[in-house]
Amino acid sequence: MYDYDLLVVGSANADLVIGVERRPGAGETVLGSDLAVHPGGKGANQAVAAARLGARTALLARVGDDGHGRLLLESQRAAGVDTVGVLVGGAPTGVALITVDPSGDNSIVVSPGANGRLTPGDVRAATSLFHASRVVSTQLEIPLETVVEVVRNLAPGSRFVLNPSPPRPLPAEVLAACDPLIVNEHEAKVILGEACVSDRPEDWAGLLLAKGPRSVVVTLGAEGSLVASSPTDVTRVASVKVDAVDTTGAGDAFTAALAFRLGAGASLADAAAYASRVGAVAVTRQGAQDSFPTAREVEAL
Ligand code: ADP
Repeated sequence: MYDYDLLVVGSANADLVIGVERRPGAGETVLGSDLAVHPGGKGANQAVAAARLGARTALLARVGDDGHGRLLLESQRAAGVDTVGVLVGGAPTGVALITVDPSGDNSIVVSPGANGRLTPGDVRAATSLFHASRVVSTQLEIPLETVVEVVRNLAPGSRFVLNPSPPRPLPAEVLAACDPLIVNEHEAKVILGEACVSDRPEDWAGLLLAKGPRSVVVTLGAEGSLVASSPTDVTRVASVKVDAVDTTGAGDAFTAALAFRLGAGASLADAAAYASRVGAVAVTRQGAQDSFPTAREVEAL
């Protein structure tokens, strides 16, 4: 019997957002709106998304001993995430400085801060969390050697889900553990590198599988997603038609929902169909964590 449906290992950032008429060029100063501070980071987002759907969720992450760290701990707890694995100190909390212009285009500077100090040793020290979790998910906003250690610490019988964002080439050991590897179009192209010999997402699924993951999901925004456990068995999963207002965090919500449903025994296609509904609700609302639905809201869609 597992204590957690999902253990998320990953980043936690404070998103500092200022609206501007025009994003500044080199050497330029512009005036903007009042500052808005939101909890974010792909790890923190996934954990909140899963917990809101009713998953028993734990987060393994690192924040600074500062106000942003307390904001992140508070938002996780408010969503029902177990923060026993959230380590405090070592560097300031990770921050994303975001300027957004009226057309919605943004410029972002990320200071990884404490996320960069989540070490392989921190993963080894959390063995009991790994043994208590049915599914483990992560992303690439923490050091790659820490992701490698996550794979090495998976308990027998638990399932590993990876969204390689921001994307970079991955060691074979990590790819082989993914069930599934979840990528959007950009991530698929970076992971495939020179092996990206086709423009068709249907082909990417097979090419990605050849790199070693047990299964692959390619998300295609409003076009839905593709799921594949073998190159000859690529299934398209439709999206839900909605009026999108803000796609921030949609991929995180999708990944968390998929991981949760897989842990509950759903097939890859069924889990992706559910995750599409979760992503669809998320894009109809502003923000990242604020936009994530409850299970009841997903059913009502
Ligand atoms: P990412 O945010 O990682 O780039 P996507 O944009 O592919 O990922 O979005 C992830 C999922 O969220 C999609 O597979 C889909 O289910 C849902 N989604 C995203 N954008 C839309 C949209 N405009 N309409 C409906 N669903 C969407």
